[in-house]
Amino acid sequence: MKKILISVFVIFALPSQLLPQTGAELMRFVKQIEGKPPEGRRQFIKDQLRRWKVRYHTMAFQANLPFRDSLVRGENIIVPMGKGKKKIIVGAHSDAVPKSPGANDNGGGVAVVLGLIKGLMDYQWNHKVDFCFFDQEEGGLLGSKEFVKKYKDKENHLAMINLDVEGTGDEVFVGPVGGGDDNVIMPIARKAAKRTGYTFIEATVYPPSDYMSFANAKLENISVSVLPKGDADKLVSFLSNHKVNTDTYPQVMKVMHTPHDSSAYMSPKALGISFEFTRTLLMLLNETK
Ligand SMILES: [Zn+2]
Repeated sequence: MKKILISVFVIFALPSQLLPQTGAELMRFVKQIEGKPPEGRRQFIKDQLRRWKVRYHTMAFQANLPFRDSLVRGENIIVPMGKGKKKIIVGAHSDAVPKSPGANDNGGGVAVVLGLIKGLMDYQWNHKVDFCFFDQEEGGLLGSKEFVKKYKDKENHLAMINLDVEGTGDEVFVGPVGGGDDNVIMPIARKAAKRTGYTFIEATVYPPSDYMSFANAKLENISVSVLPKGDADKLVSFLSNHKVNTDTYPQVMKVMHTPHDSSAYMSPKALGISFEFTRTLLMLLNETK
């Protein structure tokens, strides 16, 4: 078995001003997404975009579930913004595992991406940005795979930021760092951490998520989560040795993919941190030539 190198860096700085109104608004989005079937989740996103008069397009697809002989359908929702040569992708998966309300995984990520669309729709972009809601992540990263397959801007790709599990605690967890596909985005992520002042933990490992579809195509990518204190270390250790021990099992994973993944376990503050960190990251990325 291959040994995984682990490195965890923690940067402490003065916390930046939190945006309570943003966190509360994002939490309202989560409450409207949680418990809905896949079409209901996608419909909520579309209704919200129409309300803000934001242009979007959809990418319908069908694919075979890995290791099973069943065909599934899905639909990515994409909001293009800005102009320029380079391309930035911001993504969150909109689907949830069956029988789970899918609030923290990943109603929170969807809420943050919606918040970013609303907050940055009039921003002076130097690059093109696609805000994506990927479908069927839980089925095997199918929506993001489809997106990468049809991605025309591979040559001009700047970075992909994946948001998955954003709703508990106040520590920003970023990964998987290393492997040559985050040389551009990681120095900027560290800068965003310094600027916002949040506790920032980076690791060489990160649970499977849509960033992998980009990593497999050797496209610059990173994933961002907001986790309770101590969870990052537990997550890294779990991903490295896969031992399930009740004392060291990450808090977020006890609820994720279960009928208990509801907004009752989430906090507006965590969503506000995810929003502010990613917004800062995007603004710094926008200054990249
Ligand atoms: Zn997820």
